[in-house]
Amino acid sequence: MANFDCIVLGLGAMGSAAADHLTRRGLRVLGLDAHARGHQLGASHGKSRFIREAYFEKPDYVTLVRRAYGQWRDLEARSGSNLIEITGGLWMGPLDSPIVAGARLSAERHGLPHELLSAAGIRHRYPEFQVSDETWGLLEPNAGVLKPEECVRAQLEQAERAGARLRFGERVLRWSADGAGVAVETDQMRFTADRLVIAAGPWSAKVLADLALPMEAHRVYYLHCEPAEPTRFARSPLWLIDWAPGVYYYGVPYRASEGVKFGLHRAAMACDPDTVERAVSDEEAAEFRAAMERILPGSATRLLWAESCLYAMTPDTDFILDRHPRHPQVVFGCGFSGHGFKFAPVIGEALADLAMEGRSALPIEFLRLARI
Ligand SMILES: Cc1cc2nc3c(=O)[nH]c(=O)nc-3n(C[C@H](O)[C@H](O)[C@H](O)COP(=O)(O)OP(=O)(O)OC[C@H]3O[C@@H](n4cnc5c(N)ncnc54)[C@H](O)[C@@H]3O)c2cc1C
Repeated sequence: MANFDCIVLGLGAMGSAAADHLTRRGLRVLGLDAHARGHQLGASHGKSRFIREAYFEKPDYVTLVRRAYGQWRDLEARSGSNLIEITGGLWMGPLDSPIVAGARLSAERHGLPHELLSAAGIRHRYPEFQVSDETWGLLEPNAGVLKPEECVRAQLEQAERAGARLRFGERVLRWSADGAGVAVETDQMRFTADRLVIAAGPWSAKVLADLALPMEAHRVYYLHCEPAEPTRFARSPLWLIDWAPGVYYYGVPYRASEGVKFGLHRAAMACDPDTVERAVSDEEAAEFRAAMERILPGSATRLLWAESCLYAMTPDTDFILDRHPRHPQVVFGCGFSGHGFKFAPVIGEALADLAMEGRSALPIEFLRLARI
């Protein structure tokens, strides 16, 4: 089998982005994924992902996400697809909650456009929300939704157009590295390359078992519901509300054929990504619909569909982006903790930098493995 310059293990959001960057830099790339193209078993499927700048989690992410906005626009231009819709975003909770205080800190530190609304201001501007008097909202005009499946498809197509060889339905069983490069053995073949990029999402702890990463796959789920009066929910912003410590509900405004999307962003129970229950039970859906009705009365009239998905959680919920401590020709990005999608092209760029140069000029120091 031909020797490649670089093998990318995992072709979800991050691996497809890395393949796109590496091929654009002229490398001969082989991409491998255990599942079918466009599968629904990892972290990158569904109709929507938030993209937002006033990053409540940490201001360190703002420079990266601002670069990602530009790269998504560039991918739109290169692929001729519409990938982002700007809707504005409303981040709600008590004034000192992690969501509102954190988003405000990032917005002020980076000079991002934003507006702070009291509970009365939220109700006046967006009467569809039912919020308590203690609730505040930080309104961010540049927030929007990405179409994840179209984004991954576009990144894969761009990589293929530039010469990448992509193989789906082929699981990597083991990899090894020595001074000369890497060898990757799949359930079908053995491949060699100078470098290896690992972007195995919720499977990363398995693929990088030698590092004993403190990373867990967690099962989460979301609903799409049809409201009785759809137009009431069509001009809402994206929203996120601090409901209880560490428990954040979120939603995406009404779109024809998708209804209103509603989910819960939080650490869940650790699971094995190969055996996890995929179906969402009637009890789980009923509990979410009840919460939806408390926050957005009238929005959950009819359940359209419910879907599960996997988070790859780190203890501090920050990503891990680094070179392998013992094999400099092996680099990896994982632990995206339920908030990585928006960064995919910039993570792909950072992985390409690390694989090719051993370092990156991007501000990714805070994501290094050594911190955990
Ligand atoms: C419900 C939900 C909502 C989310 N909302 C947002 C949001 O609004 N905004 C945001 O920014 N982020 C969000 N995220 C997080 C974001 O979607 C993820 O961080 C991102 O998709 C992770 O991509 P990935 O490439 O790391 O993982 P994946 O997409 O899972 O890709 C990993 C790939 O590796 C492959 N693989 C694994 N093991 C092997 C092996 N041994 N051999 C070959 N291939 C292998 C898998 O088949 C898979 O295709 C959300 C996630 C979920 C689940």
